[in-house]
Amino acid sequence: MDFTLSEEQLMIQQAAKDFAQNELLPGVIERDDAQKFPAEQVRKMGELGFLGMMVKEEYGGSGLDTLSYVLVMEELSKVDASASVVVSVNNSLVCWGLETFGSEAQKQKYLTRLASGEIIGAFCLSEPEAGSDATSQKTTAIDMGDHYVVNGTKNWITNGGTAEVYLVIAQTDVEKGHKGINALIVEKGMEGFEIGPKENKLGIRGSDTHSLLFNDVKVPKENRIGEDGFGFKFAMKTLAGGRIGIAAQALGIAAGAYELARKYSKERKAFGTEIANHQAIAFKLADMHTKIQAARHLVYEAACDKDNGKDYTLSGAMAKLYASEVAMETAVEAVQIHGGNGFVKDYHVERMMRDAKITQIYEGTSEIQKIVISRSILKD
Ligand SMILES: Cc1cc2nc3c(=O)[nH]c(=O)nc-3n(C[C@H](O)[C@H](O)[C@H](O)COP(=O)(O)OP(=O)(O)OC[C@H]3O[C@@H](n4cnc5c(N)ncnc54)[C@H](O)[C@@H]3O)c2cc1C
Repeated sequence: MDFTLSEEQLMIQQAAKDFAQNELLPGVIERDDAQKFPAEQVRKMGELGFLGMMVKEEYGGSGLDTLSYVLVMEELSKVDASASVVVSVNNSLVCWGLETFGSEAQKQKYLTRLASGEIIGAFCLSEPEAGSDATSQKTTAIDMGDHYVVNGTKNWITNGGTAEVYLVIAQTDVEKGHKGINALIVEKGMEGFEIGPKENKLGIRGSDTHSLLFNDVKVPKENRIGEDGFGFKFAMKTLAGGRIGIAAQALGIAAGAYELARKYSKERKAFGTEIANHQAIAFKLADMHTKIQAARHLVYEAACDKDNGKDYTLSGAMAKLYASEVAMETAVEAVQIHGGNGFVKDYHVERMMRDAKITQIYEGTSEIQKIVISRSILKD
């Protein structure tokens, strides 16, 4: 496998690195503390084309490949995972889902604005009783001829309060099980659609996570994505690509924490020498570096599989499983290398340790990734 980056990919990577240092780093601690959504930073990322990276230019996107997208996700996540999750959800779940499966009218009406960053979107699958078991949808979308009537509650929705467009998964025909599920485009402001309170989270505290309530929301038929009953397939196909974005987020958190720990170990002195000269610290860094590089290869491989039209279910799940484990482990070790300073906010690594945890939970927990991987390797 050759992961030599093209001139264009290197330029995009550098642009994301510069943006992270100049625009995300200032205020990242305060935003985390106050659970403040990075609205201004998201607006600027839209201007840079980071919110519709893989969408064709004719629909307002940047027309880039998945590898460019993961490079950007990695660089942003090194500094601010609360900002990078907005990029991940908007690109992988909302824009990709609409561009791949939406009608031409839906693309013209919604995708163009989402891809250009004029508005952001949310992907609404999880419910109080349907997380890992996404087939247990209790939200209903009853077919009324020219429209659906939606009732129910969605949980943990990223961009829940700030989005304008929501891709909502709901059960139309209970008898048909997961084949009776639809994906509908719901707009903010539709009558009966309410946004619940913001969650008070352990990590990615700048990200805007809400529950959503639907009370007899009338959604026009033309807002259904794909054929009747396509909703569950839509969600699974979309999440398979979403995992590559979250894997890149995990990789970025790991790489960011490692870089801070490496730097600190060459400055901090104990017993008359820089702590990097103590083998216990140097070996921690060696392990971190090795695992991050292994995670990077898995993430790039999954991105290249997607770009080359190959099946990326297995490679995406492996990338997310491994990169999220490396993110958690690396962030914990980065705190350890910082000693007491690692335990306070100013040095960033404590935030990264808190942020890393979510990468093992959302878009399929680590246990669910192992189900996907084991099914794939045992199927023949
Ligand atoms: C900050 C945040 C943002 C999120 N953003 C979104 C979003 O934008 N859109 C959205 O739809 N959802 C979102 N989610 C929801 C997220 O995807 C779910 O939390 C996740 O899928 C797990 O579901 P659950 O919380 O119901 O846990 P459960 O499914 O109840 O799982 C609990 C535990 O049991 C394990 N488990 C469950 N089933 C099995 C099994 N068969 N075998 C082994 N172990 C199993 C799980 O791995 C986990 O450890 C978000 C969640 C959070 C916390």
